Amino acid sequence: MRWIKAVPRWLCPGAAEAKWLIRHERATFNRAGRWTQPPRNRSSRSGGTIGALLVVAAVFGPAGLAAGAQSAPTPPPASRYMVVLDAAHGGEDTGATLDGGHLEKSFTLAFSVKLRSLLAARGIGVTTTREQDATVDAERRAAIANHAGAQACLSLHASDSGLGVHLYVSALAPAQPARFTAWKTAQAAWVTRSLALAGVLDSTLQHNNIPVILGRTALPGIDSMTCPTVAVEIAPENPSGKDTTGSLDDPDYQAHVAEALAAALLAWRTEGRQP
Ligand SMILES: [Zn+2]
Repeated sequence: MRWIKAVPRWLCPGAAEAKWLIRHERATFNRAGRWTQPPRNRSSRSGGTIGALLVVAAVFGPAGLAAGAQSAPTPPPASRYMVVLDAAHGGEDTGATLDGGHLEKSFTLAFSVKLRSLLAARGIGVTTTREQDATVDAERRAAIANHAGAQACLSLHASDSGLGVHLYVSALAPAQPARFTAWKTAQAAWVTRSLALAGVLDSTLQHNNIPVILGRTALPGIDSMTCPTVAVEIAPENPSGKDTTGSLDDPDYQAHVAEALAAALLAWRTEGRQP
């Protein structure tokens, strides 16, 4: 486990995510290697407008109320173990430009397809937020995830910078579940479970000799998700840039990471059941 004290600069370097980078300044990491709460009162982001926020049942949301009933995937029976894979970016939002000129939006979609097939082979149900190169806004992604009633949600990103796999959990302070919750901070009631999910992902990835960096951040999509949610950013295993082994382009490395994530989600199947 490697903990970072500095602000992670590699998450989502794309222009469309500039605001996310700014919000990273609020993430903190203590020396004991434990998750910490954001150092500041986050009311500056949400409190000032909280009264004006549309307060809705968390399983829906602005996008869900508007369009979810028509095109959201049909939810499976509640008892089935379900995972949401959110391939970040898409359409006009290209994300980062990776080595070789590849776009992050293409990497995340291909990786989502790869991971979905691994999960399906293990009998795990999968809901995806996109299946093609299409623009899907953050609210829509959260609405799809929340409609699925999943036990785990992974938002997939990629970056040339950093090392191994970066796991980010919402920086929202944990809150008690409520019948009605503010859409933009709905994840607060799930942060504790999200941290537990990140722990399972971390241990399984490291068991597979994949370096892991943990962090907290604010992401509009995952902050509205009502399930254990982790942003998974895949970076090269070998940061030298000279060796293609362990690069984002390396199919073996991609498969290695995908297999480890699938194993972690299989482990979470038992651990992650909600009471
Ligand atoms: Zn990204």
